[in-house]
Amino acid sequence: MKNVDYIIVGGGYAGIFFAHQLITHNKSFVLFSGDQLGASKVSAGVINPVVLKKFTTFWLAEEQIDFLTKTMSEIEVYTGKNYLINENIHRIFHDKNEKELWLSKTETDELRPFLNPDFENLGNIKNPFGTGSVKKSARINVDAFFKDFFDYLREHDQLVQEQFEYSQLSDNIYKDFTFKHLVFCEGMGVRANPFFNDIQVIPNKGHHLKVKLSVKLDHQYTLKKKHFLFPLNEEAYYYGGSYDPNERENEIDEFKREELIVGLQEFYPHDFEVEEINYGFRPTVKDRRPIIGNHPEHPDYFIYNGLGARGILNGCYFSLELFEHIENGKELMAEVDIKRFNKKK
Ligand SMILES: Cc1cc2nc3c(=O)[nH]c(=O)nc-3n(C[C@H](O)[C@H](O)[C@H](O)COP(=O)(O)OP(=O)(O)OC[C@H]3O[C@@H](n4cnc5c(N)ncnc54)[C@H](O)[C@@H]3O)c2cc1C
Repeated sequence: MKNVDYIIVGGGYAGIFFAHQLITHNKSFVLFSGDQLGASKVSAGVINPVVLKKFTTFWLAEEQIDFLTKTMSEIEVYTGKNYLINENIHRIFHDKNEKELWLSKTETDELRPFLNPDFENLGNIKNPFGTGSVKKSARINVDAFFKDFFDYLREHDQLVQEQFEYSQLSDNIYKDFTFKHLVFCEGMGVRANPFFNDIQVIPNKGHHLKVKLSVKLDHQYTLKKKHFLFPLNEEAYYYGGSYDPNERENEIDEFKREELIVGLQEFYPHDFEVEEINYGFRPTVKDRRPIIGNHPEHPDYFIYNGLGARGILNGCYFSLELFEHIENGKELMAEVDIKRFNKKK
């Protein structure tokens, strides 16, 4: 038998950022990661403090960005790499009204820290009304982040690359492991979890394209009109992710490929080649807050889920909340506490 403080199930943003807390606090653990791709690995990696449809911000945006910056520099210490790409989002305005709305919002206390009042016209794309940039926005190098983190876990004997089998669990024993706490970070996989499958996590499917542009952009910004466009490397660009809440099939929806192509053609006037299309399911919650807490009959079993469309900011920020709650009995914020669902019953 191997004794560990924690078992984590799932290696997306929830599982990885929680694992980071365990590493920094010297707790022993193993992370189980199944072969389902999950949402995190297909995500754009964009960090964005503004809702770019309505030009509003959201709960704890500034605190979350500061905490993410600190966390990424802690991770850099042990993986040896920086994953934060400090390139701002440039929102392409649809028309004159949108540009004026943006300008008026730059004068509000809420948006002043985030919306730049100086506009830019960018080359090689259609942007007749110009673009506005979002301060404090950035993106992470998703592929490198997951690859290196998994390599680190593997090297330290902390990764079990197999599906966690719920039927093999008995109190604080799972197969060859005994553990103090078990944290389920399964994203939409939670539906197969007999302990937490009654929790209302709703899938919001998203697709993205990997494209080769015939005329490269002369900057590294993240462009945003309908969706995000940014360079992944010297060759390829990411375009997406779409919001397809009504699609539930575990396969690529071919009509989405066409929709994404049309979306990109709206502002990119040159030829491009689609190299790949991928999809994932965002684990969303009606009240748009993560879900954290333990099982009423198995107090050592926890759920960390509901990261929604902001997996990076939510996943990073609330990993410490969960850790402090388990280790030091810190009360969870009411907004994210799983108990909020009991009250409504
Ligand atoms: C197209 C797209 C673009 C997105 N872009 C962004 C973005 O730019 N910025 C942003 O912040 N967010 C973005 N998101 C949202 C973000 O990806 C999600 O919020 C986040 O990935 C959720 O993370 P998670 O760890 O909860 O779940 P997941 O990433 O789905 O991870 C769960 C993991 O658990 C594993 N698992 C499940 N059950 C088991 C089991 N029994 N045993 C072992 N392993 C198991 C799965 O295989 C999976 O790998 C995007 C999402 C999509 C679909």
